[in-house]
Amino acid sequence: MQPLRKLLRLLPGRVLSAAALALAACTAVQAADVQQMRLHSAPDHTRLVLDLSGPVDHSVFELDNPARLVVDLDRGRMRFDPSRLDLSGTPLSGVRAAPRDGNRLRVVLDLRRKLEPKTFRLAPVAPYGHRLVIDLYEKERQQVSRSARDESPKRDVVVAIDAGHGGEDPGAIGPNGALEKDVVLAIARRVETMLKAEPGIRPVMIRTGDYYVPLIRRTQLAREHRADLFVSVHADAFHRPSARGASVYTLSDRGASSETASWLAARENRADLIGGVGDVSLNDKDDVLAQVLLDLSVNASLSASLDVGERVLDSLGGVARLHSRRVEQAGFRVLRSPDIPSILVETGFISNPEESRLLVTRDYQQRIATAIVAGVRAHLREQPPPGTLLAWQRDNPGAERSYVIEKGDTLSTIARRFGVDTAAVRQANNIAGDLIRVGQVIVIPAS
Ligand SMILES: [Zn+2]
Repeated sequence: MQPLRKLLRLLPGRVLSAAALALAACTAVQAADVQQMRLHSAPDHTRLVLDLSGPVDHSVFELDNPARLVVDLDRGRMRFDPSRLDLSGTPLSGVRAAPRDGNRLRVVLDLRRKLEPKTFRLAPVAPYGHRLVIDLYEKERQQVSRSARDESPKRDVVVAIDAGHGGEDPGAIGPNGALEKDVVLAIARRVETMLKAEPGIRPVMIRTGDYYVPLIRRTQLAREHRADLFVSVHADAFHRPSARGASVYTLSDRGASSETASWLAARENRADLIGGVGDVSLNDKDDVLAQVLLDLSVNASLSASLDVGERVLDSLGGVARLHSRRVEQAGFRVLRSPDIPSILVETGFISNPEESRLLVTRDYQQRIATAIVAGVRAHLREQPPPGTLLAWQRDNPGAERSYVIEKGDTLSTIARRFGVDTAAVRQANNIAGDLIRVGQVIVIPAS
């Protein structure tokens, strides 16, 4: 008798189903050490990640009064002191761990309120190994309040800035250890700061910290914020370390325009697998409806995407080496908002040793961000969405504008922003030197 059949004979009958055997075959049998624990706070959930030495099976249950979540790890061992976790600002009031029933490890999360747990394993992706992810969602899902669009005839243009990757998805990793998720968040924040200073433009950040946002959620957030433009920021890797230079992409459903484009799109589209998509409500009904309605505007949106893409590429050419001199196209899932002109900016190849060194410096990040802003500004000045201040300014070129001085402004930066001469601003406002004060209203002469 073969050993396997002998073994089966010894098992109780009810587990002798193919399913049970299949399940048994893929369970983790080795002991796994919890080497580290990490906390990521996202706006709608808190993620606790257990870094493990190997895959582990686990079970979860909840307890009330006080609210607790209990996670049992089969053959788990704790090699990390959970009291080292900084729980401030999280819905967790404590994390404890103790061995249980011989070879199990019990991890108890003390919760400040009842939360909806979702747990899953993640396979290794450098620099992370095997992980067990515990997502804790608020019971009352806070909907991002659909920001009522300012319906005044001079509303701000809303620009969504999407820093790629985040949390469990580090993105590409440079030879110097630089992580794409950190580099692109730093660049995105600089873009946000600069766009905030532009009259008539309101930036919104899709990701504000080190946490993962599923690809479909990124476009959903942009739509909830009623974005007029979507700019995704990346710094990627290629299988040849010699690949270098910045590039700009728009969506194509008809295949990629180059080898690099298809390679990058495939990489970016894998993000959800790597980042660990917990419970994403896809809101199908909305999406289908949106799709139908928006097919009508898809052509307009595509040509606007190309226009903003070309302008960003143009200004990037002034500060960085370009990977390609034209806007490339590929099937990036994150760009699939037919109603919102969308571009993906690869700020450089983090896999290229020289570019990786540059991309972590503040100076280079600022130059890249400035170039992105210049391209966005140029596009919006020429093709402003209807009903915006920028559209009004374009259609009333002779009109005088007023501006309220903000902290950090100088006459020359204001003049540059409005595309007028510093001397003209001085003259129009009877200012002798450069003395201006915060809150002062000045007139911007027509350019
Ligand atoms: Zn990326």
